Amino acid sequence: MRWRGRRQSNNVEDRRGRGFVRSKKGASGGAMILLILAGLFFGQDVQRVLSLFVGGGSGGPQVQQSSRPSSAADDDNAAFVKTILAETEDTWNQVFSDSGSNYQAPKLVLYEEQTQTACGVGKAASGPFYCPGDYKIYIDLSFMTELKRMGAPGDFAFAYVIAHEVGHHIQNLIGVASDVRKKQARSNKSGANALSVKMELQADCLAGIWINRTEQRNSILEQGDIEEGFAAAAAVGDDTIMSRAGMAPRRENFTHGSAKERMYWFQEGMKTGRIDSCQTF
Ligand SMILES: [Zn+2]
Repeated sequence: MRWRGRRQSNNVEDRRGRGFVRSKKGASGGAMILLILAGLFFGQDVQRVLSLFVGGGSGGPQVQQSSRPSSAADDDNAAFVKTILAETEDTWNQVFSDSGSNYQAPKLVLYEEQTQTACGVGKAASGPFYCPGDYKIYIDLSFMTELKRMGAPGDFAFAYVIAHEVGHHIQNLIGVASDVRKKQARSNKSGANALSVKMELQADCLAGIWINRTEQRNSILEQGDIEEGFAAAAAVGDDTIMSRAGMAPRRENFTHGSAKERMYWFQEGMKTGRIDSCQTF
């Protein structure tokens, strides 16, 4: 991607290198669990995330000092995140103003290992996520290495992840997210999972819109970028993740969609650049 030298977003809150303080008032209730699960980029660590909410930890105040200073590579990655976030702001400002409304951009929090969110304690092991409760995207930059390990290296793959989380923010703004949560509350587990898949695939489609509009504005794509994006979409398909974990991929357990579906909807948004093409429901 040709991303250097472009505007960087001011909507980034840098919590790297800061200690973690757990507040006494932890998150509680099923709604919070659903909130955070719907915002996760993949379903891999669902059990671990749930343990944060269900009887996890002592609950008391706890401080952990992070001893890892941020490296030059991390700072370069942070500059990348700020640039991609700025491109999403330009895209969604345009889309919203085309329809006569104002876009309220999300904040993006960079953190290390764990951090406090309005959706409970966010942990790097869960991957990037969006918390609808505070309109913030949470990213630990070590996820870039994790993506490589999952077979999706490259800057465009990471840009797709950021754009997907911004997609969840859009769903929060336009009311899709709260509709889905209401329906999920009335559904059994497989019904709730099926709704989650539709929401995740729509976020992939919205990420595709981002690349369509950004490319039209700035021509940032380089050879191989699109392939990187597809590789990332496939790597985080539920079937890919379950197979890798030695589990049989079962549709009723999917929360994010298969590799094929994720690639399809990402491509759909990229092709059309139109929000009305993201009809995954
Ligand atoms: Zn997601």
